[in-house]
Amino acid sequence: TYTIAEPCVDVLDKACIEECPVDCIYEGGRMLYIHPDECVDCGACEPVCPVEAIFYEDDVPDEWVEYTKANADFFDEI
Ligand code: SF4
Repeated sequence: TYTIAEPCVDVLDKACIEECPVDCIYEGGRMLYIHPDECVDCGACEPVCPVEAIFYEDDVPDEWVEYTKANADFFDEI
C-alpha cells in the first residue's frame, strides 16, 4: 500500500484524490489518509503530490515510518 506522511499535515492539497482510480484517499483532521486495504498500489497519486508526502510502504523515510501505522489506524477508528 501507499502511505501519506508528514508533509501533508496542514497542506491537504488533494491533487492525489483526483488521481486515485479507486477513491481510497480520505480527508481526516489535519491530513489525508490512504486506506491500506483499498489501495491498489497503482502509484498514480505519488507524482501529483506537490509536497511529496506520498510513498510506497517500503520507501517511507525512516523519520516518517509511524505514518504508515497512522494511515491504517485512522480507518480502524472510524
Ligand atoms: Fe489510490 Fe493508486 Fe495512490 Fe493507492 S497508489 S492511493 S490506489 S492513487
